[in-house]
Amino acid sequence: MPSGNVIRGSRIGSAPERPAERYEPAPRRAVSYWCRNGHATEIRMAVDAEAPPLWDCPRCGLPAGRDAENPPGRARPEPYKTHLAYVKERRSAEEGEAILAEALAALRRRRGRE
Ligand SMILES: [Zn+2]
Repeated sequence: MPSGNVIRGSRIGSAPERPAERYEPAPRRAVSYWCRNGHATEIRMAVDAEAPPLWDCPRCGLPAGRDAENPPGRARPEPYKTHLAYVKERRSAEEGEAILAEALAALRRRRGRE
């Protein structure tokens, strides 16, 4: 009994070959962006595509840039000022001292009453 028949009769290798995958994903590179809040975002883009200068930070929505040391935009529309800083803008140091002394005196009076 020739064993060759079994092999010949099998369908091994007779299935139509899948067409070679013609679509190859383009080579990618990682591009990093940093937002003002210190979030680093890495996006992957095609090597031949030009990286946009800005990318919206997916974590906080601020624009993120390519330079980690100098992220775009401003964290706040205005630098944060303490209440005292605003007071100092409106009043001179002397006035400030007087107001402080007055406030302390009022505080001491209140505490004295308690
Ligand atoms: Zn962010």
